[in-house]
Amino acid sequence: MDATVTVIDPVAALAELAPIGADPVRGGWSRHLLDDADRDMRAWFVRTAGSLGLTVETDANANQWATWAPEGATGPAVATGSHLDSVPGGGPLDGPLGVVSALAAVSRLIAEGHAPARPLMVANFAEEEGARFGVPCLGSQLLAGDIGTERVRRLTDAAGTGYPEVMMAAGYDPTTIGRDAARVAEMALYLELHVEQGCQLAPLGHPVGLATSILAHGRWRLTLTGRGDHAGATELVSRHDPMLVAGEAIRSARGHALGSAPETRSRATVGKLHVVPGGSNAIASEVRLWLDARAEHDADVRDLVARIVSDVEAAGLAEGCTVTVEEESFSTRVAFDQDLTDRVAAALAPGLGDVPRIPTGAGHDAGVLAAHLPTAMIFVRNPDGVSHSPLEGAAEPDIRTGVDALTDALRALTSERGT
Ligand SMILES: [Zn+2]
Repeated sequence: MDATVTVIDPVAALAELAPIGADPVRGGWSRHLLDDADRDMRAWFVRTAGSLGLTVETDANANQWATWAPEGATGPAVATGSHLDSVPGGGPLDGPLGVVSALAAVSRLIAEGHAPARPLMVANFAEEEGARFGVPCLGSQLLAGDIGTERVRRLTDAAGTGYPEVMMAAGYDPTTIGRDAARVAEMALYLELHVEQGCQLAPLGHPVGLATSILAHGRWRLTLTGRGDHAGATELVSRHDPMLVAGEAIRSARGHALGSAPETRSRATVGKLHVVPGGSNAIASEVRLWLDARAEHDADVRDLVARIVSDVEAAGLAEGCTVTVEEESFSTRVAFDQDLTDRVAAALAPGLGDVPRIPTGAGHDAGVLAAHLPTAMIFVRNPDGVSHSPLEGAAEPDIRTGVDALTDALRALTSERGT
């Protein structure tokens, strides 16, 4: 036993994070890349990992890393972690649960005197939600070289502030972002714990599950341009109102997702609209809306989006509005590593029984890394499945069971000799 290390209690650690970025008006938490709340979350990561004696570094893409490499730990590392940023008004667990659980698991392994054969790294990936710059998994995509750096340097947030300015203000050099082959090579595998998004574990009666796959998914920005005018003085027949076209987009997204074959597990959502000028007595001149579409296979998503866009273009034509469509991101279907998932399952306490293996409709950094190294995920039961909302939650005993499971998995994986 190492009595000098304080074991991290995950519930207490989450309570410590609760005031950071809490939004008293909207509810939930808003923590976006390098804003004040995100910086406070990052400072907590540095402090907490430091208290365990881990080596903390930040890479050029603003991802944070905490490494435990005691004597005898050699070769590529076992990596774990998640993200500390959130969607606007998000829940307390999407992201932080994985980072908190990872640090709690490491603290337990240190305290019990575990001697790892390979290093253990905990990651906090930057801008996983894409809430500030519109690109999900930005930090892991940059790290893996999956996104062009020129494109990233052109990104701006809602206030018009460019990605390079935000990075420079926080002390980063935006000219050095991009693929980090050395860091990727340092990882033998990546295991991420995450709160379940969706409700598959509760009906099965299991507190934890393992991921099989992530739906193919993407985001498209539709710009609908009409003619701004007076809400009272303009005759109905002479209007070019992009709000009508937006309405068609919203309705059509649901309609075509519903009309898809059930085995495609299609879903489409318009969750964000920007109306110009946004006056209650003015016909809008322009509406920008964001379409999020997901389905089992890449072609299902492409087909779904094509059908929705076709409807929107027809509605645009009928209303005398122009429609432009820009793909902001596309993530192909991810199948997690079966062998790694089997090894994780074998490490879990027998009391957990036959742990369910479930697919997910949510994107994750583990999904990005899956194209580059073996990855797996542990999900912690979400009683009603709600996520990306202040209502997201998990029972305290399930949170503790999740940490137990991650600890057992990391103990077993770091006992395997690195190659
Ligand atoms: Zn997440």
